[in-house]
Amino acid sequence: MENLYRMLPSVDEILKEGKIAEVLKFNKREVVKKIARDVLEKYREKIRTREIEEFNREEITEEILSQIEKRKKMNLRRVVNGTGIIIHTNLGRSLFPPQVKEYLWNVACYYSTLEYDVEKGERGSRYSHVEEILCELLSVEAALVVNNNAAAVLLALNTLAKGKEVIVSRGQLIEIGGSFRIPDVMLQSGAILKEVGTTNKTYDYDYINAISENTALLLKVHTSNYRIVGFTHDIGTEELVQIGIKYNLPTMEDLGSGVMVDLREYGLAYEPTVQDVVKAGVDIITFSGDKLLGGPQAGIIIGKKKYIDLMKKNPLTRALRVDKLCLVSLERILRIYRDSNPVELIPTLKMLTARPQDLYKKAVNLKESILSITKIKSQLTQISSLSGGGSLPEENLPSYGVTVEIEGLSANELEKRLRIREIPIITRIISDVVTIDVRTLVEGDEDIIVKALKEVTGVCQ
Ligand SMILES: *Cc1c(COP(=O)(O)O)cnc(C)c1O
Repeated sequence: MENLYRMLPSVDEILKEGKIAEVLKFNKREVVKKIARDVLEKYREKIRTREIEEFNREEITEEILSQIEKRKKMNLRRVVNGTGIIIHTNLGRSLFPPQVKEYLWNVACYYSTLEYDVEKGERGSRYSHVEEILCELLSVEAALVVNNNAAAVLLALNTLAKGKEVIVSRGQLIEIGGSFRIPDVMLQSGAILKEVGTTNKTYDYDYINAISENTALLLKVHTSNYRIVGFTHDIGTEELVQIGIKYNLPTMEDLGSGVMVDLREYGLAYEPTVQDVVKAGVDIITFSGDKLLGGPQAGIIIGKKKYIDLMKKNPLTRALRVDKLCLVSLERILRIYRDSNPVELIPTLKMLTARPQDLYKKAVNLKESILSITKIKSQLTQISSLSGGGSLPEENLPSYGVTVEIEGLSANELEKRLRIREIPIITRIISDVVTIDVRTLVEGDEDIIVKALKEVTGVCQ
């Protein structure tokens, strides 16, 4: 044992070794030193517990090099989404179309017009870049963009109803993943929640009877991630607007997903579009930027100028403000909505409306590529994708899956090996078989999957 200890090199000796000396050119000396020390300590421990009885210098060097390499791997990085859940909140919700790239890069790496009016040569507003487009696109008087929809709801309630009552139907007191709960947001905003009706039924007189001199707002919340079915009644947006007009109270709708395309045209269930809610005459509408809109994380507030102006003056707006990378990508994406065909260009909508025959072709191609690898079994299956992100909760989108089976590897083990890679591949296990839903695969993903499977089988062989 003593002998083995003595054979361990010193940290200084290690740092002088050819390969290590080479990486020292690109890595901090202190970091390499620490890694070397840790690796040596590990070897000492293994010698002590008699786990090893011999070693060579080469393997120590390799271990240090691999640790240095591992440290470089970014925590936040690309993954392959083989789950078929389109707006997957854990995997980053919506993907940008390639049209955003150049603008995002320019604003990130160069100075920009963020808060500068080039015509006047003076200070401008960061919100103006998207406000004008939103107003044109949605026929509204004003718009404001904040950090996310939760922030949008908080800001609107705080501005319009602090210390006053907001009337909401009991059937709409939703919780969205990540603990966004209407009653809690209401409390934080300083508004007082006045719930009316019952879980399954709320009528117009429930709202009317609850109105008092302390009422500030009538709120409707879109029950994005669930449906109340059966013996139910809820009042429509138009009816709520009518009550608002009659009692001189502003109305607000938290729409959640903020779809701006009528999905019925693509054979999907009706999801109220932002345009429909605007037409109904609601004073304030809020929705997310990264759900069905398919853009960056953002909370979009649109509606009457007099209310939005109040929000702009609220000090909370400064705390909830969006950054330039969000604004530039949002502006570019809104321009796609305004000037071209969003369903063809925006990944979230493209995936949602993908035609079965195209998914089939994509699945056949993937299956063929996988079958070209030896020792793998792969089949086509018919499965369902989900919209995700708390939108279209009842919609099972018929899709195609490609199964992967490798002899000698359990489904759980294979799922894990695909997941813990440099570019993680996230799959589903359906009936004990690893399955990749092709709906959420993007360009380049097939090659990544094939490469990964080749490596995984290589290890097995
Ligand atoms: C998703 C959702 C929210 C929260 O939106 P974020 O952009 O995730 O903050 C709020 N309300 C409704 C109805 C939603 O669907």
